[in-house]
Amino acid sequence: MTTKQRKIVGNVSLAAVFIMMCALQLWFTMLILFAFGLILTLISRRRNFCSAYCPMGTVQDAFYKKHEYRNEKLYRLLQSRSAVIIFAAIFWGAVSASIFLLHPVPGKLWQAMLSIMLGSAAVAVLLQNLTRKRVWCSTICPYGNILGQVVKRDKK
Ligand code: SF4
Repeated sequence: MTTKQRKIVGNVSLAAVFIMMCALQLWFTMLILFAFGLILTLISRRRNFCSAYCPMGTVQDAFYKKHEYRNEKLYRLLQSRSAVIIFAAIFWGAVSASIFLLHPVPGKLWQAMLSIMLGSAAVAVLLQNLTRKRVWCSTICPYGNILGQVVKRDKK
């Protein structure tokens, strides 16, 4: 896929997620996206989802501004195993607790899932501004790290 094609796919994917989540208010949008990403990764045995389809990747690219300042200490912290574990625990804990506790009230569950999605995007953009491009993706992304394990296992 060329860079231009990737951009188009990323924007279409972002628009689809926006329609499903915001217009149709489907609380399980993120789960559909994750299932799609997992199937794509299992079939292609590459991180195609991350390089083209992921809406979070598109959002980060859209907000990226080249800058000289890089907080190297923070970058090293994000690369650490404990940061990866902590972010994974917070993210997957919030997703599973929301589904488990709020499934009887779809409206509240939708609000919780939207907050998780927007919160993750905000953290990713903020960290990118403080360190380097797509730092969320290269270090702590809880879902990206699972896809990374899938690809690694396939290559063994
Ligand atoms: S690492 Fe995470 S946020 Fe980045 S592109 Fe992959 S799934 Fe999306």
